[in-house]
Amino acid sequence: MLPDLTPAELEEKVASWGFKPTHASRLLRAFYAGEDFTNPDTQSRAHRFPVELLERLATESAGPASTVVMRQVAADGTTKLLLRLRDGATVETVLMPDFRPDRAAGCLSSQVGCAMGCDFCATTKTGFQRNLTSGEMIEQFLALRREARAVGRTLQTVVFMGMGEPLLNLQSVLSAVRRIGDNALGALGWRQITVSTVGIIPGIDALNEADLNVNLAVSLHAPDDATRARLLPVGTRYPIADILAAVDRFQAKRPRPATIQYCLLAGVNDAPEQAEQLAALIGSRRLHINLLRYNPTGLSLRGVAYEPSTEDVAERFAEILRERGMVAHFRRSRGKDIDAACGQLRRRLQPSAEDSNR
Ligand code: SF4
Repeated sequence: MLPDLTPAELEEKVASWGFKPTHASRLLRAFYAGEDFTNPDTQSRAHRFPVELLERLATESAGPASTVVMRQVAADGTTKLLLRLRDGATVETVLMPDFRPDRAAGCLSSQVGCAMGCDFCATTKTGFQRNLTSGEMIEQFLALRREARAVGRTLQTVVFMGMGEPLLNLQSVLSAVRRIGDNALGALGWRQITVSTVGIIPGIDALNEADLNVNLAVSLHAPDDATRARLLPVGTRYPIADILAAVDRFQAKRPRPATIQYCLLAGVNDAPEQAEQLAALIGSRRLHINLLRYNPTGLSLRGVAYEPSTEDVAERFAEILRERGMVAHFRRSRGKDIDAACGQLRRRLQPSAEDSNR
């Protein structure tokens, strides 16, 4: 229950149970600090709260909203958790160690499965089940923070780039962002939070309207609408030029550059002329381009066996962008020795019909 509630909502509840509403903000602070209210030892130590209040909380809470049912740790320290939610649905969340030894980044899911149908994505193969609640996203954040602390790191940034399209579950994502960023709760700071989208234009505008100082990342993956629509069906609805115009509107209100994600697929979107095209599209915009070499996940939805670009081709692509004045970096490929691509771990537990037919 606690990860689902804002301080005001908990105040109301605590008051309706006959306790002082001022307990609410302290309860939430203790919860976000990692205190376990279900442990009787902790309860007796938590003498600052009435025992009856803790008991009422335990009765009303019906246990945690999620439990870790699978955990994979890669040689590079990337840790992937599979969480089972109360209704039995499962979602993935990932901790990625930073090159600085005391820091880590987290990747959060916003939906169970995904309806976007991006052709190279493992998540979408099991379809869309439902939106996550803000509490279920916060539980991912807290689980990753525990994982980070256990290895002597601080969870420094989070990105909504796991399973699902965050802008199609915007109200819950915003609600989670507010509590993760709140100094008295998650205390991460909004600027440490990035929301990533495949380019849902009304969602980008709504995120902009929300006036939270978060970062925006847009998965482009192609420099022209025809190639993009083959990879990302959403491309038929939202042309690249319109997406970039929405990014411009977002950037106009914020000092930091947005990020363009571009996953390099051999022979599909990695030709030198496509790099030229991408550079022309970006033009003088202040954007960072994150290049990623594809992490193969088997046959795609359309039955294509995508391959990552070779290192030489990927390097040449980046070089062309940089020669045209773009800021282009490679995002490190993480956890190659585990099911690192989004949706792979979950499919281990819940194979799609296509898997069982193989
Ligand atoms: S890449 Fe993201 S938006 Fe596209 S299908 Fe996968 S989870 Fe959904």
